[in-house]
Amino acid sequence: MNEFNETQKNTLISMVSEDRFSTGISDKNSHIHDISCHYGELPAGIIWPESTEEVADILQWTYAQKIPVTPWGAGTSTEGNPVPTCGGLVVDCTHMDRILAIRPEDMQADVQPGVFRKELNRKTGKYGLFFPPDPGADATIGGMIANNASGIQTVKYGATKDYVMRLTIVLPDGKIIHTGCLAPKSSSGYDLTRLFVGSEGTLGIVTQASLRLTGLPAHHLAATITFPDLESACRAVTAMITSGLEPAALELLTPNLVRLMNQEKDLGLPEEPSLFCEFHGISEATLEETKQLTSELCREYDAAGFSFGMEETHRKNLWRARHEAWETIHRAHPGKETLIVDAAVPISKYPGMVLFAQAQVDESRAVGYVFGHAGDGNLHVVLVGDPENAKEWKTLEDINHHIVARAVEVGGTCTGEHGVGIGKRQFMRQEHGESLDLMRQIKNLIDPLGLMNPGKIFI
Ligand SMILES: Cc1cc2nc3c(=O)[nH]c(=O)nc-3n(C[C@H](O)[C@H](O)[C@H](O)COP(=O)(O)OP(=O)(O)OC[C@H]3O[C@@H](n4cnc5c(N)ncnc54)[C@H](O)[C@@H]3O)c2cc1C
Repeated sequence: MNEFNETQKNTLISMVSEDRFSTGISDKNSHIHDISCHYGELPAGIIWPESTEEVADILQWTYAQKIPVTPWGAGTSTEGNPVPTCGGLVVDCTHMDRILAIRPEDMQADVQPGVFRKELNRKTGKYGLFFPPDPGADATIGGMIANNASGIQTVKYGATKDYVMRLTIVLPDGKIIHTGCLAPKSSSGYDLTRLFVGSEGTLGIVTQASLRLTGLPAHHLAATITFPDLESACRAVTAMITSGLEPAALELLTPNLVRLMNQEKDLGLPEEPSLFCEFHGISEATLEETKQLTSELCREYDAAGFSFGMEETHRKNLWRARHEAWETIHRAHPGKETLIVDAAVPISKYPGMVLFAQAQVDESRAVGYVFGHAGDGNLHVVLVGDPENAKEWKTLEDINHHIVARAVEVGGTCTGEHGVGIGKRQFMRQEHGESLDLMRQIKNLIDPLGLMNPGKIFI
């Protein structure tokens, strides 16, 4: 459904205010596409609620009217996760942007879902605390909860699911529920909080979250380490993870991506298989020791180049370049779309997986950049092409299929962090077998009319 009638428009305006509901074409167009190659169907309207009560009124009404609803955060997903597939109403959560409380003594914060993670960290930083999950984009907390997002520091600090304690959720029929508690631990019944984390807005809308925070590290050590070949770099990753060195970030980059970064940012990095690492420590002395141990360990894997730095600028430059990898690739291939592989495997299988992925790209003569959150066994391949060119795009899809099939075969997953959205639905049966039927039953129980973010997770 792509249009509301006058009565429907007036009802929706009466639930918020005139300036927080739109049927304008530019607003519609800015809510049918995330950063992926998946485009949605124009919604009939967009609404910007400010409170749990407003969301409850909206969903009670859409349920009665049988109108599809798609929640929207910052729209930075990579699999079409917030893209409306049946038109309907988009509930844009960015006006629910208040940090409601920071409790430094409990290391917790209560937030509305439209708070951006960088803003949260600016505020909690004053108390020496931070919320560690860090997708490259400045995403909203609601979008991160819905996708169970993670990032470069997940190897040490965990993913979003590890930081969500309590949620307020509006169910598809408008009923408000609270899940979880504020105690550091609980064994009380089914873990409904974890059910909603990663549910991609298919079960309801998160309107408030209590988050666990952690202490800001006192000292940082950033490192760039280069290797003569990809296999040595990957084997060093496995060794580093099992060594007890506890990197706070451990990222793999292949030479063609480093080359693009150098061209764009004039970084002067050696164009070799590289590990970008970060370590956190209580003193510079402990980090000096970490530096020595890391060098010794990596030399065993033939590491050739080392660059270490404890200054803020060293670290910031490194991570800015890494965080902008996707944008850098896009800028280097104007007019093209990307298909992003997001497989994750047990760490012992990582070297084999990376070599397999690189071989797939090379043998197909495709344009593709292999990199990833190596410390989490998470592999990205950004494949570049034109969806209008059926042959070229089919080659990219085949590469994606082969990599996912191999990842699942060795005990991994089709998506380490980006979520299923539209793009990874095709792999869900392969990965989950009969458990997918139970997921479907849960979906049907909570959303019997199938109105919440339709066309996601399930085919
Ligand atoms: C350059 C770049 C780098 C990235 N790197 C990473 C990375 O390293 N790791 C990673 O995990 N991701 C990464 N991402 C992907 C993306 O940033 C994350 O998936 C992020 O969590 C999306 O948040 P968002 O606010 O943009 O949400 P959106 O994309 O708007 O929505 C995400 C999902 O959440 C649902 N949703 C939104 N708000 C709510 C709510 N209040 N209640 C219920 N459902 C809701 C939507 O329907 C959708 O299904 C990257 C993206 C970019 C552009």
